[in-house]
Amino acid sequence: LVVLSGVNKHFGALHVLQNIDLTIERGEVVVVIGPSGSGKSTLCRTINRLETIDSGEISIDGKPLPQEGKELARLRADVGMVFQSFNLFAHRTVLENVMLGQVKVRRKEKAAAEQHARKLLDRVGVGSQCDKYPAQLSGGQQQRVAIARALAMDPKVILFDEPTSALDPEMINEVLEVMQQLARDGMTMVVVTHEMGFARSAANRVVFMADGRIVEEATPEEFFNNPRSDRAKDFLSKIL
Ligand code: ATP
Ligand code: MG
Repeated sequence: LVVLSGVNKHFGALHVLQNIDLTIERGEVVVVIGPSGSGKSTLCRTINRLETIDSGEISIDGKPLPQEGKELARLRADVGMVFQSFNLFAHRTVLENVMLGQVKVRRKEKAAAEQHARKLLDRVGVGSQCDKYPAQLSGGQQQRVAIARALAMDPKVILFDEPTSALDPEMINEVLEVMQQLARDGMTMVVVTHEMGFARSAANRVVFMADGRIVEEATPEEFFNNPRSDRAKDFLSKIL
């Protein structure tokens, strides 16, 4: 579904993505882990073209990423993104947050968009919060709204960049449970996370990055029980 081949990206002198080859199949859950600064966020951001690349190719559903205009807006709808910092529209209600993209980008009727939004907000467990503003919700609730907003676009894949890192500990599980359910429902997901429990139970594949490279790619069992590279062994010894 998503194919990166020979992708390179620099920030000035820093070679932040080095010859990245990665294929994500439909329905697959790929967890990306690695030390701070290894390029995990940059990798996600190139997939929905929040960052440009210097060389290589990225395609979704066999089509190269569009460069601009309407096509780019559609790409951002096809490739949902959930950030560490929720990024909800502060001056819109929860319901409006989940309706807006459907109306503006997907050109749905308001009534249909509202019905779909309510259904999704129920699904992530915040159906009773529709008329509140984001600041009136807990972090865990806001992040679940952000997931509902991504889902509302009927994306082909959702990228999660450390979706639980900004949350108080007691709210982490409610968000991970929603993500587990999505994974079971067959959503294609790329998840950057330090939650190794989630990686073990939900990932089809773990991608370990260091210094802008993919150093290892393995099933969670292989990766956690028998990491091959010194970088991965060192990383795991620090976090487990
Ligand atoms: P973390 O675990 O801390 O989130 P990461 O693996 O997500 O790290 P990236 O955010 O992708 O890492 O950053 C990779 C490298 O690129 C870092 O050295 C970072 O400082 C640098 N970098 C990221 N964004 C920019 C930018 N817009 N301009 C210049 N350098 C950047
Ligand atoms: Mg990051």
